[in-house]
Amino acid sequence: MNAFSLSGRRALVTGANTGIGQAIAVALSQAGADVIAAGRSPCDQTLALMQGGRSVMLDFADPMAARDIFHAEQIDILINNAGIIRRADAVDFSEADWDDVIDVNLKALFFTCQAFARAALPRGYGKIVNIASLLSFQGGIRVPSYTAAKHGVAGLTKLMANEWAPQGLNINAIAPGYIETNNTTALRQDPARSRAIIDRIPAGRWGRPQDIAQSAVFLSAPASDYINGAVLNVDGGWMAR
Ligand code: NAP
Repeated sequence: MNAFSLSGRRALVTGANTGIGQAIAVALSQAGADVIAAGRSPCDQTLALMQGGRSVMLDFADPMAARDIFHAEQIDILINNAGIIRRADAVDFSEADWDDVIDVNLKALFFTCQAFARAALPRGYGKIVNIASLLSFQGGIRVPSYTAAKHGVAGLTKLMANEWAPQGLNINAIAPGYIETNNTTALRQDPARSRAIIDRIPAGRWGRPQDIAQSAVFLSAPASDYINGAVLNVDGGWMAR
């Protein structure tokens, strides 16, 4: 058996209509998985890029949105990618910007993992890949709820691995560096900021969604069966500096 094949597995990718989530959905599909692309808007463009698969609507403004989906059919792989960011000085940061980001990026991620685990634990097999961030390790600036949520994602990834690895589940995370998506358009359009970022990246370039997607295939495949509770930096070396 090819240790990197996802043939015969079904995967759910959240926030799959664009960016990193779209690239992960396409890569998992190319690796042989039957992919369910979940979005709060239709994932038509992603479906057009995949081999087979289908789309479902999930809006994690309700952190319990995925409560029932894992009981309807067997899903072997969960990629928690959906995320938002709000920027304001910490001294001015609003409660709404705190709650909105924590609900989508942290609370929904945990309860989606919990719903997945309740279905997967009795089967003794399952893979979860959470999308963390460099701000799972660093403080950042003007993004307090995002930093709190992404630090939480790293911690919860380890906690869930501790609890569920003995029963055959792998729970890991990927910490993307600076990736070319909608999330970073403003940064890339500011020549001084973009140059400063590239100058600090040993690989000397922005990351591409495909860079994250290939790592997600690895962490979803049998090749990573002995990796538990890891947060894998896919950042061109940013954290090594
Ligand atoms: P993106 O293009 O803005 O994609 C974010 C995805 O999350 C979109 O599909 C978005 O859907 C979805 N989403 C947002 N709120 C949602 C909700 N309430 N319910 C369901 N889906 C929701 O940004 P991206 O860069 O690909 O981000 C993907 C993940 O990578 C995020 O968790 C982000 O924090 C993380 N990340 C990105 C970078 C980077 O440099 N780009 C670095 C570190 C971590 P809509 O299109 O409908 O808004």
